[in-house]
Amino acid sequence: MDYKKYPAEPYRVKVVETVKMVDKAERERVMKESGYNTFLLPSEDVYIDLLTDSGTNAMSDKQWGGMMVGDEAYAGSRNFKHLEETVQDIFGFPHLVPTHQGRGAENILSSIAIKPGQYVPGNMYFTTTRFHQEHNGGIFVDIIRDEAHDAGLSIPFKGNIDIKKLENLINEKGAENIAYVCLAVTVNLAGGQPVSMANMKEVRELTAKHGIKVFFDATRCVENAYFIKEQEEGYADKTIKEIVREMFSYSDGATMSGKKDCIVNIGGFLAMRDEELFLKAKELVVVYEGMPSYGGMAGRDMEAMAIGLQEAMQFEYIQHRVLQVRYLGELLKEAGVPIVEPVGGHAVFLDARRFCPHLEQDDFPAQSLAASLFVESGVRSMERGIVSAGRDIKTGEHHRPKLETVRLTIPRRVYTYKHMDVVADAVIKLFKHKEDIKPLRFTYEPKQLRFFTARFEPYEK
Ligand SMILES: *Cc1c(COP(=O)(O)O)cnc(C)c1O
Repeated sequence: MDYKKYPAEPYRVKVVETVKMVDKAERERVMKESGYNTFLLPSEDVYIDLLTDSGTNAMSDKQWGGMMVGDEAYAGSRNFKHLEETVQDIFGFPHLVPTHQGRGAENILSSIAIKPGQYVPGNMYFTTTRFHQEHNGGIFVDIIRDEAHDAGLSIPFKGNIDIKKLENLINEKGAENIAYVCLAVTVNLAGGQPVSMANMKEVRELTAKHGIKVFFDATRCVENAYFIKEQEEGYADKTIKEIVREMFSYSDGATMSGKKDCIVNIGGFLAMRDEELFLKAKELVVVYEGMPSYGGMAGRDMEAMAIGLQEAMQFEYIQHRVLQVRYLGELLKEAGVPIVEPVGGHAVFLDARRFCPHLEQDDFPAQSLAASLFVESGVRSMERGIVSAGRDIKTGEHHRPKLETVRLTIPRRVYTYKHMDVVADAVIKLFKHKEDIKPLRFTYEPKQLRFFTARFEPYEK
């Protein structure tokens, strides 16, 4: 481990929140009580919380200052103006629709841009994104490059769209039967894998020829920009902001979960170029979210988001963020723990297939591994495998994704390298007695987005 590669935190701590570690017997009890689903654990019993980086960000003093100048007028809030100008400046989209979080934006976009029966190709699915597409009659098609499904294969820009797959789909189904292309930067479920600028450009060129729109899932676009700067030829000397601006020049609009790369605790938006589509979005936002000048957010939250977006453009911030994640990945790799490679922008994904070779996918190995890791150490992680993938909307069969993973997701500006050491030690210790990880079965399975609230029990096969 070359410690010099990893920069120190580019901030100093002003406020602290203490955490406690409950003992193992207690952790066993609460895990059982929580139905072996880490989503159902009380946060108080968690020592290091790597469930998600969604809304778990630490805001800066400037953002907290911004909260105090929230303009909570029902209409025409000045914070909306600030957010709108910031989004125009960073992304280049003239039109902004604020929403309560990313899925609010997905709901509106899917309602106005998908006709039932149309195809929605994307670079791997995301849970809420696909839900809204299917809920509006769309048919999701995965057009990510094949390599993205291979956990152990370490190649750059593993999140790229396979242009041939997109071309075949257009030729087969006809451009008029494609609602839009949904391009996620980075690809969460592939392991936070980035998309290259060259790929975005190619997708734009191909879709432009056929008059097909491209919407980005912008949720982790700053992380993606860092990878482009680090790894793509011609971008080393560009600023993060210049890279982000160029990325979105290849799109017609974007959905954004502010809870990730905007470094806030709540919020999101839909942004776009098309005037007509924007009018339709505004008609829907008043039904589902709120007035177009606040959508699902308070004035203070819009202010914090505008400031967070500007902070996210700072190179030192995003470099530390991505490298802290990589540091954890390197520790695990050095100890021989199977992880998804290369390590992506927001999380280290344990490869549960190789971690638990004694379990079948229908035993929910990643779910069980996440539960065992909590019992072992108080570290909370999340399943990203067969449980998250849900069932086929037509056949009712489980989707069986190739990637069966546990996600250790690092919140922004919250934990230190020492916390990463503790997490790595816990995973390595569990790996040494991995045979103790038991098969699980459902005791309760909700119909939609089941991973959030499902309950399980271990059993002997
Ligand atoms: C979190 C996330 C979403 C959904 O956003 P919410 O704010 O949680 O509703 C969509 N896409 C990606 C890639 C995400 O990570």
